Amino acid sequence: MERVYNFSPGPSQLALPVLEQAKKDLLCYGETGMSVMEMSHRSKMYTDIYDKAVADLRDLMNIPDTYDVLFLQGGATQQFSAVPLNLMVNRKADYLDTGNFAHLAAEEAKRYGEVNVVASSREDTYTYIPDFSKISWTEDADYVHITQNNTIYGTRYTSLPETNAPLVCDASSMILSETMDVTRYGAIYAGAQKNIGPSGLCVLIVRKDLLGHAMDVCPKLLNWEVQAKAGSMYNTPNTWGIYIAGLTFAWLKSIGGVEAIEKVNIEKASLLYDFLDGSKLFKATAQKEYRSRMNVTFVTGNPDSDAAFVKAAAAEGLVNLKGHRSVGGMRASIYNAMPLEGVQKLVAFMKKFEAAQL
Ligand SMILES: *Cc1c(COP(=O)(O)O)cnc(C)c1O
Repeated sequence: MERVYNFSPGPSQLALPVLEQAKKDLLCYGETGMSVMEMSHRSKMYTDIYDKAVADLRDLMNIPDTYDVLFLQGGATQQFSAVPLNLMVNRKADYLDTGNFAHLAAEEAKRYGEVNVVASSREDTYTYIPDFSKISWTEDADYVHITQNNTIYGTRYTSLPETNAPLVCDASSMILSETMDVTRYGAIYAGAQKNIGPSGLCVLIVRKDLLGHAMDVCPKLLNWEVQAKAGSMYNTPNTWGIYIAGLTFAWLKSIGGVEAIEKVNIEKASLLYDFLDGSKLFKATAQKEYRSRMNVTFVTGNPDSDAAFVKAAAAEGLVNLKGHRSVGGMRASIYNAMPLEGVQKLVAFMKKFEAAQL
């Protein structure tokens, strides 16, 4: 069986060199005589893997020493709770509602304090990012929460709002796909299963001065300061997940880092959007200015044609193109590990499908 081009929104395709290395290491990692899954997380052989993963991520994203890098569990969703539990000193925060996950993050935060949804594109099925200049920020907000790429609706921030309160960013579906100026953020978190590695793991990059203000009720495991002091090992971390993440970071470095992959990502997205803009059958759903480079959403306008397309594409080895159940249509998730050829194949197939329909 050949490997397919997997356009899944997550868990998504991993880079082939990462899987090949993991396969090589599966029974015996280096000279250890055991698999990474069988190592003590406190052993030297494992802490070396951990330290290299952290160092490589710092290198890839230019993360200053004033920030901690943590590998946490519970995916990005766990951080919807951890963010308010760690940062709500005044029990107030501003949220921008730009998609399903942004909405869920705000709803969860309401359990812990006052949440002001200061801008929302919910009424327009999240087809754009709201205009920051029209926002009135809450004066004593503890933070401002954004979701920089909206995985389900296929939109992305093309700039960041200027805020007095620290910016907290769910970067799950865009981390490492484009350069980010980490110093613009108080905290960045990302579930791993889009651009990094296996699900269940979450990367957190947090400014050190924001630690130490967690609420008393904050579970110890969700307390960022506790985890920072323990080097992400207050309990047994997702050792295998961190190892795969480390392989992905090493792979990304080997191909030129974030700057290099960003160019490829722009090329892939342009190829697909240019085709969509010229198509008589398919139509992109996100507003042009805010189109995601990672999740390309489109429709034919006819649910039966959509279903026929998804089925026919799968038969060609182009799988998981169905849109999220809440919006229908199609979505091609083209994260870092999707090679340019995958998108070329997809566009060629779309052309063929279109010609046969019209
Ligand atoms: C996938 C995703 C999540 C959810 O991640 P889990 O790891 O399943 O908790 C949250 N936010 C965004 C932007 C996502 O793309």
